[in-house]
Order: sequence, then structure tokens, then C-alpha cells
Amino acid sequence: MTSQTDLRPLSTAQAQAWKDRVLPATERIAEGTWAVPVPIPDNPLRYTYSYLLEADDGVAVVDPGWDGDARLQALLEGLSGAGYTPADIVGIVVTHYHRDHLGLVPALLSLQPGAWLALHSHDIESVESFRSRSSRTTPESAMALGANLGLPAERIEELASSFAGKARSASSDRTVFAFDWPQNLLRVEDKELLPIPGRRIRVLWTPGHTFGHIALHDEENQTFFSGDHVLPSISPNIGLDITSIGHSLGDYLGSLERMRGLPEDVAVAPAHGYRFDGLHIRADQLVAHHDQRLAELRERAAATDDQSVYSMCQGMEWARGFEGLTGFQLYAALMETAAHMHYLDMPVPSLDGGESGR
Ligand SMILES: [Zn+2]
Repeated sequence: MTSQTDLRPLSTAQAQAWKDRVLPATERIAEGTWAVPVPIPDNPLRYTYSYLLEADDGVAVVDPGWDGDARLQALLEGLSGAGYTPADIVGIVVTHYHRDHLGLVPALLSLQPGAWLALHSHDIESVESFRSRSSRTTPESAMALGANLGLPAERIEELASSFAGKARSASSDRTVFAFDWPQNLLRVEDKELLPIPGRRIRVLWTPGHTFGHIALHDEENQTFFSGDHVLPSISPNIGLDITSIGHSLGDYLGSLERMRGLPEDVAVAPAHGYRFDGLHIRADQLVAHHDQRLAELRERAAATDDQSVYSMCQGMEWARGFEGLTGFQLYAALMETAAHMHYLDMPVPSLDGGESGR
């Protein structure tokens, strides 16, 4: 894990809540800008910050959060605390298509069908492919994946059964994604200004965590809405999405490099954790974290003849040790290993057979 000694929380209330594992209060973080924590059920991240951007003609919502009545209630309370009703929503921006960011979009659109919805075109494609895809995971394909990854026979079974659970949650994800795009779907591109009257909010394409991940730079308030690209105390998962494993780590490192183009003293408003100061420091820490992973991998590759993903994974450091990786955690670790192997041009076997979408 990377050190975070040089990061300064910009909200003691948010930092304290993160430490205490409780939900912080809605907070006005800058001129016309609010952070509303929206809970995530059964998840160590606990909540997504949905940001409200006041506009001349209403309010725009960034990352509404996980779907469901209780979450909608939390978001609407935050909206009302800022002095708005759903009818005031002019637009919704989603940093990336994962359910803890996009989940409430259909509910908001049904309350305010006239709102525009902005996503990067690559994540629009991901949602569409997710909608149309039936579950590809069968016990046979999970077993084949396990064998391709080089798992010993007794662990292949374990991987296959964790897949059964993942397939269930993937099918519930598909339900969430099964809404009609609004009339006003905006395919936003890098460097574009969002159509929020009275604000200067610029899109930065930051592929890595997902291929279409975007972050937003409020050029007047000097606030950087980082989505999941840069978080204060965790390293976002890179490589879990099988369909993008071929480019995810290289993209992510490139997107971290781009952080140098932003002012050093910009206030970072992430989707999880707490607001902080030190974007360049944090980007450097994340690059160092991946450099370290790559070094572990090279060392392991030089030390063993077994070049399978499972064998390489054994040579890398994990928070609870390699032995502590079970079920879905093992799968995520194997995919992360595969993404790092791909980056080093090591042969990676076919990884087909899995589901993704988180
Ligand atoms: Zn997230």
C-alpha cells in the first residue's frame, strides 16, 4: 500500500467519517458546489459522493450513486438541502459506468425526463454491450478459465463457485443498465466543457479504471472531481474488466501522468474517501505503487519456470497475503496480475469466460 503522509484532507468532517466508517453529512465544498454521500449497500467503500453543481438555470448532478429507494432518498435529501427539487436538475454527468456511480440515473431521469445525461462514448459502449450480453459464464467456462490461469485443480472449483455469485450480481447489474437513454444523451469527449450555464466544468478523459472514465475540472473554483481515477487512500482496481485488460494499465499510467497538467493546488473531490490536497503527490504515489507491482512481477518471472497468471500472482504482495485471497478476491487479484503481465508483454492466456461490470 502507498503512503499517504503528504496528503492533507480538505474536509475534517469527511476524513473523520472515513476513519470512523460512518456516513458523513452533506457538505457545501465550494461556491455553488455540494457533496452528497449516497450509501453503497454491503461495500467497504460505504458511499459514493454525488456532487451537485449549481447552474444559472438549475443544478447538475455528478455520479448520482447506487440504485434503490434508500439511496434515492439520500440523494433527494441532499438536493433539497441545497435548495433544489428534482425538477431543477438540468443534467447528469457520470464519471464511469459502474453501478455505484450510474445506478440512480434511471430513477433521476424518471423524475426529470428533460435532463441531459453525459458519459464518455467508450462507457456508453460498455453499458450497451453489458445490456445485450447474456451471461457468458457457465461452470465449464469458469473451469476453463481456471485452467488457463494455471490454478491447481483444488482451487479451480473455488474460482468456479465464486463465479456463480458474480454471475448473479452481473445479472442484477444488467437490470440496472436496462433503461432507455434519454433524448439528450451527450457523448462527451476529452477537453470539452459541459453545457452547464454559469460554470466552467471541463472534461478530462482518464481511461484506466474503465476505458471511458472521465474526471471533471472546475476551472473557476479549482476543484477536481476525480471519480475513481485518483482516490485518497486506495488504489483503484485496474484490470478487473476482462474486455479491457489489454490496455487498462498502460492507459491508467498515462492518465496519472496527465494529472501534472492540472494545477498542483487544485482541491481533489473524489468519488470515495474524502476531499484532499496534493493531486500531484497522490498521482506519484499511485505510479510508484504500480512500479512496485511490476518489479515484483519481474522478480517472480525470473525466479520460476511456471509463468502462469496464478504463479505470478503468488509472487506479488497482497494486503492479506496471497494465502488470504479466496473466492472473488482471488479472481480480482488474478485479473490485476494479468493486467500487469500484459503491460510487461508477458504472455497472458485467454481470459474469456468471466463477467465484469464493477
Ligand atoms: Zn466507485
